[in-house]
Amino acid sequence: MPRYADMSKAELEAELAQVRARYDEMVARRLSLNMARGKPSAAQLELSLPMLDILDAAADLTAEDGTDCRNYGVLDGIPEAKRLMATLLDDEPENVIVLGNASLTAMYDAMVRLMLFGTQGSTPWAQLPEVKWLCPVPGYDRHFTICEALGIQMIPVPMDENGPIMDEVERLVANDAAVKGIWCVPKYSNPTGATYSDEVVRRLAAMECAAPDFRIFWDNAYAVHHFSDDPAEQDAVLDIAVACRDAGNPDRYLKFGSTSKITFPGAGVAAAAASPANVAEIKRHMNAQAIGHDKLNQLRHARFLNEGAGLAEHMARHGALMEPKFRLVTERLEAELGGAGIATWTNPRGGYFVSFEGPAGTARRIVDLARTAGVVMTGAGATWPYGDDPADSNIRIAPSLPPLEELDEAMDVFTCCVKLAALEQLLGA
Ligand code: PMP
Repeated sequence: MPRYADMSKAELEAELAQVRARYDEMVARRLSLNMARGKPSAAQLELSLPMLDILDAAADLTAEDGTDCRNYGVLDGIPEAKRLMATLLDDEPENVIVLGNASLTAMYDAMVRLMLFGTQGSTPWAQLPEVKWLCPVPGYDRHFTICEALGIQMIPVPMDENGPIMDEVERLVANDAAVKGIWCVPKYSNPTGATYSDEVVRRLAAMECAAPDFRIFWDNAYAVHHFSDDPAEQDAVLDIAVACRDAGNPDRYLKFGSTSKITFPGAGVAAAAASPANVAEIKRHMNAQAIGHDKLNQLRHARFLNEGAGLAEHMARHGALMEPKFRLVTERLEAELGGAGIATWTNPRGGYFVSFEGPAGTARRIVDLARTAGVVMTGAGATWPYGDDPADSNIRIAPSLPPLEELDEAMDVFTCCVKLAALEQLLGA
């Protein structure tokens, strides 16, 4: 296929007629396919079904420290769950607080605590005239929703394959004490799949911040979510805790993670890890909030995943189900759009998403066209703060949920919609 930019008006018009005819055919097929959210497929969920049999009536429901997991108690998690979550968060068990069923709740709670109480003696953020937050883009819509709900002003920061553009981050944090923090998804980022380079991690840890209580929300949602059972060296992320300590900013980070996309989303285990001072502060506040979380769930997760030692093998099974789907997506994009020169996309080695960049001003149209043809995508703009992608070009592709055959059909529709939107724009049609 020649590049659209090199085609004459007559050639473009012929292409438009052809693409439109194909699109109309697709609409007539009345498909119903969903690529909107990064949900594990049924086959992935089945991988964790044996966990449900671990705690039968005959099982020992006592944690290693003697805690009866059937009863109240233990604010910060049983020891075996702390070891599991420490493996996931690349930290020591003593720095881990095991939480409820979702890391998103943990991040929301952490932000609310900062707003209500400040941290390590600082003024509660809600009492300041304004609070600003750096949001690497494209990013995770639910992070942005937390900021928006709490009235925190979001500042988009561009990213590349190594993480946020640090010159820009350093400039923004240096002179404005209202800039209180940054969202980071350091590994297989949502949605680009980027893994932060060591240099980016070191610069985040060491940068001069006008706000002494600046916080990095380190959301390692995809810490072990590789497609290959032999992950690439460049996907090993430098530990932000070590980098912050080395830089003399030991309290700057808060790590978050969960087993949502390891076992069962919504029925997993979440955790945070932080410096000793921050752990003490968080526990102090949590003491008013909870008696403890679901220790039976902690116990079965710890046993099922062998306190972390079983993660690699379990995640290799997930990877084997995910890899063909991501391969299919990138192959179909290349086959259908590679020649036209109208789009770019990422080619991740792990995580849950492909980030797609279409021609400026077409993302909303593409997503609308796809919906009309029965394929639901993540809403255009969702990857930007306030749902506002100023170029209207980014679309998040989430291939995990549909079976391969359905994904193939969905990619047919999607690539057709991209061409249709691009041709309409080029021809003013
Ligand atoms: N963080 C990121 C970056 C995510 O992509 C997701 C899931 N889509 C979450 C957090 C949600 O995790 P949890 O289920 O633990 O709330």
